[in-house]
Amino acid sequence: MDLQRVRHSTAHVMAAAVCRLFENVKLDIGPATETGFYYDFDLPARLSPEDFPAIEQEMRGIIAEDHPFERIEVSREEAVRLLEEQGQSFKLDRLEDIPEDETITFYKSGGFMDLCRGPHLERTGEIKAFKLTSVAGSYFRGIETNPMLQRLYGIAADSEKELRVLLQRMEEAGKRDHRKLGRELDLFSVQEEVGGGLIHWHPRGARIRCLIEDFWRREHFRGGYELLYTPHIGRARLWETSGHLEFYRENMYSPMDIDGNEYFVKPMNCPFHIQVYKSDTRSYRDLPLRWAELGTVYRYEKSGVLHGLLRVRGFTQDDAHIFCTPEQIEGEIETTVKFALRMLRCFGFEKISAYLSTRPHKAVGEEARWRQATDSLERALKTCGIPFETDQGGGAFYGPKIDLKIQDAIGREWQLGTIQFDFNIPERFDLGYIGEDGGSHRPYMVHRALLGSLERFFGILVEHYGGAFPLWLAPEQVRVLPLTGNQMDYARGVVECLKRDDLRVTLDEKSEKIGAKIRRAQQARIPYMLITGPKEAEARTVAVRERSAGDIGAMSVKDFAAKIAGENVPDRVRAG
Ligand SMILES: [Zn+2]
Ligand SMILES: [Zn+2]
Repeated sequence: MDLQRVRHSTAHVMAAAVCRLFENVKLDIGPATETGFYYDFDLPARLSPEDFPAIEQEMRGIIAEDHPFERIEVSREEAVRLLEEQGQSFKLDRLEDIPEDETITFYKSGGFMDLCRGPHLERTGEIKAFKLTSVAGSYFRGIETNPMLQRLYGIAADSEKELRVLLQRMEEAGKRDHRKLGRELDLFSVQEEVGGGLIHWHPRGARIRCLIEDFWRREHFRGGYELLYTPHIGRARLWETSGHLEFYRENMYSPMDIDGNEYFVKPMNCPFHIQVYKSDTRSYRDLPLRWAELGTVYRYEKSGVLHGLLRVRGFTQDDAHIFCTPEQIEGEIETTVKFALRMLRCFGFEKISAYLSTRPHKAVGEEARWRQATDSLERALKTCGIPFETDQGGGAFYGPKIDLKIQDAIGREWQLGTIQFDFNIPERFDLGYIGEDGGSHRPYMVHRALLGSLERFFGILVEHYGGAFPLWLAPEQVRVLPLTGNQMDYARGVVECLKRDDLRVTLDEKSEKIGAKIRRAQQARIPYMLITGPKEAEARTVAVRERSAGDIGAMSVKDFAAKIAGENVPDRVRAG
């Protein structure tokens, strides 16, 4: 069965139940979500999870009554009259969003009638399994100056069994929540004193970021990229030329005045990379140019949507721009897609898919170039065997693109990288190169980010690994735990020895029972614990404990170092 339809229909049933149980309910909207549905209400009573059983009971009643979902077409005047009569002010506001030429429909099930486009199930009785999960405040239309509504969330599935799977996954996601783990493992924070959506990387988080960046840089140099570092602010004139002030202004922060000139904090790195391109005459022999930057940008996000590391106001993109000739484009795109796959696999993501977005009705750039660009994207996806869906006409006006999606350890999909053509910016900045014919030509320009932003990628990694980072990314790889103070000197020697191999190793010097030390190391998700008691000190060995396998026996420090050397590298590098 079409789950979207089931979930949206369940939202109707929930709204009907809330209207039966509470007075003066004003309705907003109730869409389906990825796992269920929500409905936004305004009502005098404050809903809490304690109300859920009663609402669910009422919903089960409505489902048992098996009402049909009746579609009722009305004129705009009739719709206004009906909604005014019911005092549905939010719905009246939403009514204005419906274009003049569109048919206005209400859907009626039992005594409940709702302005809605549909589609729905045939009857309420077709709903098989659902559960209410949470309630939260939500501003009308997501705008902070609007009234705060109550958003009631639920999940729905085809069967009770499927519902249990969903619930389990939600529970698992809750345990892996990167904001929770970020606190527990002391990885990062957001400080009100500084402002929302601005991330502070604590030493352990910063160490992981550093490892990601080192790996990223090495791979880029190996992949034929050069790095750029560019400024964080630029003059208004630059952003006018780039078109950002015209088309992207609402995502940019207010300008600052420097010597009477307006400067803007950058929301993107591209105009700076273009300036570097333009700093010299380029010939076809110089191309392709592949320039990457871990570029920190700032974009406005409503405070209501900020969310841990996933939605922030300042972030560092793993950005790159490729400038090339038409003859090079196909090879460049294939190389870029392969590069992206390798990168993502090294972080443990094996299930990768893509969206291909093609030319919209209104677009800039020659059609032949669009065709060549789109073909090269599609061919690269096919060559690499990546399953993809095509969003026909869904591309940006300036070029086709592919978005790469990964599936994490608990089956959730995340959109990460993007490979995006741009036929607009090279025009605006009048980019050129001298061709073999001696004439001036326009290069192809491709924006690409593979991890997206370091902040968001880190948030996804924390949840993917549940905080138990693989050895090569663990901020603390090995902790040495002396059984008693008598083994302290020997333990110090072990630490020094492993440090010489550049391992991230520490010593637990607390005078506590070994059980407590192990528990603490376990909570910190440290991959290896080396327990050193009198026996080990005597035999010059360590008793190795792995965080998930537990005790794996005693060995010499040299053997231990050799054993983990092969593990201390990104996944794919090891496999390859
Ligand atoms: Zn509906
Ligand atoms: Zn760009």
